[in-house]
Amino acid sequence: MSSSSSDSRLQLALVAHDAKKDLMVEWARRHSETLRQANLFATGTTGGRINAALPELQLTALKSGPLGGDQQLGAMICEGKLNGLFFFIDPLSPMPHDVDVKALSRLAIVYDLPFASSPSTADFVLNGIFQ
Ligand code: PGA
Repeated sequence: MSSSSSDSRLQLALVAHDAKKDLMVEWARRHSETLRQANLFATGTTGGRINAALPELQLTALKSGPLGGDQQLGAMICEGKLNGLFFFIDPLSPMPHDVDVKALSRLAIVYDLPFASSPSTADFVLNGIFQ
């Protein structure tokens, strides 16, 4: 799979709801050698957590999800700028920005973007993207 980035690195998006942020940081740590090869984009709080734990990664933090970060990532999907979405969704908590959660998931499906919503699936998707 090719990247649309000028430096030809794959571009991956990372998002985790609050109850899943520890899992996301742990997952990113486990895959840090692979993730170092990509340009990462994350919603604000998720990105801040990953940047603090793994400063060696190339990660751009966008707006926080509820403030438009999910929509920024959705726009990147529409523009063909992402090669994968790792979106650890919390299915047990009501979200004020549920519409954004649905919109981001929906666009990943519309554009047939490799998309993982939990750590075990994310292991397979990341391996597949870098095959
Ligand atoms: P956050 O956004 O990383 O800024 O918390 C995640 C989300 O979409 O809920």
